[in-house]
Amino acid sequence: MKPIILLIEDDPRIRRFLRASLVTQGYELIEAGTGREGLALAASRVPEVVLLDLGLPDMEGLEVIKQLRSWSEVPIIILSARGQERDKVANLDAGADDYLTKPFGMGELLARIRVALRRAAPAEEDKQEAFYSLGPIRVDVERRLVFRGPEEVHLTPIEYKLLSVLLKHRGKVVTHRQLLKEVWGPSYVEQNPYLRIFILNLRRKLEDDPARPQYLLTEPGVGYRLREA
Ligand code: CA
Repeated sequence: MKPIILLIEDDPRIRRFLRASLVTQGYELIEAGTGREGLALAASRVPEVVLLDLGLPDMEGLEVIKQLRSWSEVPIIILSARGQERDKVANLDAGADDYLTKPFGMGELLARIRVALRRAAPAEEDKQEAFYSLGPIRVDVERRLVFRGPEEVHLTPIEYKLLSVLLKHRGKVVTHRQLLKEVWGPSYVEQNPYLRIFILNLRRKLEDDPARPQYLLTEPGVGYRLREA
């Protein structure tokens, strides 16, 4: 069974480009040119991943996400134009899973789709992994220990919590708001300075060069992403 991808996009050039590549990669692609059509197809065909353009002729992307999220957990990857940073954050906070800024490379899109599919697989969702490794960094989840190469790294409880939230969403962007909420709680969602300090600390402890992070990446104006493997 080929995984079904629903593309909601009104630009025929982008549709052509994505169609050729995704079909070659073994996905089944279904397409909609409007938000309304997209929502109908999401209900009738039950795709594994939705790729959503924000500039649709009939509806705001945000509205499509809200409606979809009222009955579906399907991973949503936003395809946004440059300069839509504010929209991006609002859309991610409304329940979109990730985003790509146009123009994007096919390799990048395929990697995001793989992350989305892995996260959507129910068997994997249930089983908590015992170990994670990311280059020289290893995390022993059961014992709550972190190593960098052979050395144990001592993290404070908050640093560990922050790392485990990023690990849970690894490969995927996590917004400032979402991190603050999951680590500190709902009343801290506006406290970006907290987050910056703790991210800096984590980088100092985990990265070779904290000024040029290889694993704990910044998504400017949006949040952070823990690189996969
Ligand atoms: Ca468009």
